Amino acid sequence: MLKLENISRSYKKTRALIDFSYEFERGVTAILGPNGSGKTTLFNIITGNLKPDSGTVTLTSTGARRIGFVPQYPGMYPDFTVAEMLDYTAKLARAENAKAQIDEVTEAFGLGEYNGVRVRALSGGTKQRLASAQAFIGSPELVVLDEPTAGLDPMQRILFKNYINRRKGGAAILISTHITSDVADVADKVIFLRRGQLVTDGSVDEICEKFCGRCWELPAGSNVPDSVPCRVSGERVRVISDATPVPGAISVEPELDDCYLAVFGEDGVGIS
Ligand code: ADP
Repeated sequence: MLKLENISRSYKKTRALIDFSYEFERGVTAILGPNGSGKTTLFNIITGNLKPDSGTVTLTSTGARRIGFVPQYPGMYPDFTVAEMLDYTAKLARAENAKAQIDEVTEAFGLGEYNGVRVRALSGGTKQRLASAQAFIGSPELVVLDEPTAGLDPMQRILFKNYINRRKGGAAILISTHITSDVADVADKVIFLRRGQLVTDGSVDEICEKFCGRCWELPAGSNVPDSVPCRVSGERVRVISDATPVPGAISVEPELDDCYLAVFGEDGVGIS
């Protein structure tokens, strides 16, 4: 559906993307990485808003349908109401059954009560939902959402994931986030992007499999050396370590959070 080959891009001395290759398929692909890992640069290149220094982007779509793109900080017309913004998007996208599509996204993103409200008066989270709603109008084959859940409360996050799940059969949906729980529920494929490079990719299960044998649970109160990446899970502490970290540690099945910790926990800790 969308093939990226050997994409590199620098800003002066900062290498934001380094030799990135990946073939995106229908379904949800989540790009996970901390701030500065190159997610926005990648999305801007995919959507044609930024030229790579080298490499190619090929969209092998089946028709001429549009790309739905939500940038991290969407630019919108502040004087438009929510209803006008959606109507305008439907016209730009030449959406068939525009009214039905607008009604669907209005319902899915909980925008009904804001129909008559001007964009300038919306909270950040509501603006984010409006932007996501716009991205799905016009039945795009490729939907690119840059940190779409950042400003959402837990209920809105659930509604967002439910909607993504409903639409993912008909489009390649790319989502960037640093929230692993957003990904674990809906992503068919996950990419870990670190300092502009793809570190590992696969389904959530495949990625967890790669870290098998490196995730340990310690009894409460254990002393963890500073150099060992760890996270609290209930009463226990989970750590990433190639060998038994302390006597009494139990080897456990990695979760996506553990994999994230292994890749981003500290320099030099990662999968080769
Ligand atoms: P992310 O979206 O994962 O936070 P970005 O793609 O925004 O990552 O940034 C990747 C790297 O490129 C960072 O080190 C960032 O500081 C740098 N960068 C991004 N945009 C610019 C820019 N316009 N000028 C200079 N450096 C930039």
